[in-house]
Amino acid sequence: VTAQPTAEVIAVGDELLRGDTVDTNGAWIGRTLAGIGIEVRQRTVVGDQVDQIRDAMRAAVPRVGLLVVCGGLGPTADDLTRDALADLLGEPLLLDEALLQRLAEYFADRQRSMPAGAVVQAMRPSSAWPIHNQVGTAPGLRATCDGCTVLLLPGPPRELQPMLTGLLPQLPSAAPSSARRLTVALLPESLVAELVEPLLGEATAAYYATPGRVVIRLTGATEAVAAATARAAAVLGDVLLDRADAAESVLAAAERRGWSVAVAESLTGGLVTASLTAVAGASAVVRGGIVSYATEVKDSLLDVPAELLDARGPVDPEVALAMARGARRALDADVAVATTGVAGPDPVGPHPPGLAFVAVSSPEDERVVRVDARGDRELVRTLTVAHALDLLRRSLNRLPDYSATAEPG
Ligand code: ATP
Repeated sequence: VTAQPTAEVIAVGDELLRGDTVDTNGAWIGRTLAGIGIEVRQRTVVGDQVDQIRDAMRAAVPRVGLLVVCGGLGPTADDLTRDALADLLGEPLLLDEALLQRLAEYFADRQRSMPAGAVVQAMRPSSAWPIHNQVGTAPGLRATCDGCTVLLLPGPPRELQPMLTGLLPQLPSAAPSSARRLTVALLPESLVAELVEPLLGEATAAYYATPGRVVIRLTGATEAVAAATARAAAVLGDVLLDRADAAESVLAAAERRGWSVAVAESLTGGLVTASLTAVAGASAVVRGGIVSYATEVKDSLLDVPAELLDARGPVDPEVALAMARGARRALDADVAVATTGVAGPDPVGPHPPGLAFVAVSSPEDERVVRVDARGDRELVRTLTVAHALDLLRRSLNRLPDYSATAEPG
C-alpha cells in the first residue's frame, strides 16, 4: 500500500486576515483534493508580504508532496505571490514572451488597451511553468521545489476552480477515486446519516444540510463510491432527488411530462417562483407566479371563494387548494402549487407561527400537505418552499406524499 499523498494550502491576502473575504478557496481545495485521495494536512493564511508568503512556502515544502498557494497573482503592487516563488526557488522573474502575447490577445479580444501593470502577469521564474487561465488574466504557475510540486493559482474562485480541476489528472493521487453527490429532500440530516452510514462499505460520506435538504458527498475508490451510491439509492427511495436540487428535479419532471407549471404564494412571497426560475431553461416550463399576500387578493386574483376565506381564514388546507386551482386557471398552466401559512413571529388568529399548507392541483391529482416548521421567519419560509417543491415533484412523478415517519425505500 502506498502512503497517502499529502498537501498543504496557503491562502494569500490581507483581506483574508482582516476577515473581509472568507477563505472559501481553502475549503474547496481541501474537498477537491480529498476527492482524489490527497490529504490536506495544513492550511495557512498569510498577508500580502513577500517574506511572509515565501516563509510559509519554505516551511511547507519539506512536509508535503503538493503545495497549493492561492491569491496574489494579479497585476497590482500587493500581488506578490509570484515574487515569493522566485525568492523560494532562488531564480529571477523573467518575461515569458508567449504569456505576454496571450495577455495582449486577452485585452485585444475585449477591445481594451493593456494596462502597463498587467505585464507582471507574464513574468515567471525560469523553472516554473504557466498554468492557463481560461477565465481571467493571471496565469497560474507550477514549479518543483525539493521534490514538492508547488501550484500558484489566482484568488477568484471562478478562475481557480477550473484551473485546479484541469490539473487533477496530473496530481499524485492515492488510487483511482471519485466523488458523488446525492441530494435528499426533507429528511432530517440525522436520519439520512443513520440510513446511509451502514451502507458505505469502503466509501466515506460527508453530509451538508440546509433547511429541507441534505447533500451527501460520497468519496473513495471509484468502485466503492459506485457501490455505496447504488445501496444508498435503494434505501433512500423517493426522498432522493434525480437532480442536484429540488427545483431542478421539478423542472425535469415537468419537462418529461410536457406540463407547464404555475405558482400561487402567500407566506413564501415569491420564493417558490424564484427557486424555479433560478434554474436555467425554466422558461420552457414555468408559466409564472402570483404573490397573493393579502387575503382579498387570494379572492380577487385567484378566485378563492370569499365565503371560504371568511369561514376559514387564509391559513387553511382548502384555501391552499383553491389557490392552486386559481393559479392554474389564471396562468393557464397544467399544474400549480400554492403556499399559505404563518411565517411568524406572531400567530395569525388561532394559528401558530410555522403552520403552513401547501397544495398542488393538476388534471390528475389534487393534494394538500401540512407543514409544521419550528424556527424563525426565514426558516419557516425556506422550509415551506422545500415542501412546495417536493409536493410538486411528487405529484409530477406520481409518488406518494412525503412522510417523515415512513421508512424510506
Ligand atoms: P486577480 O487577478 O483577480 O487580482 P489574484 O490572484 O491577485 O487575482 P487576489 O487579489 O488575491 O487574487 O484575490 C482576488 C479576489 O479573489 C478577492 O477579492 C476575493 O474575492 C477572491 N479570493 C481571494 N482569495 C480567496 C480565498 N482564499 N477564498 C475565496 N475567495 C478568495
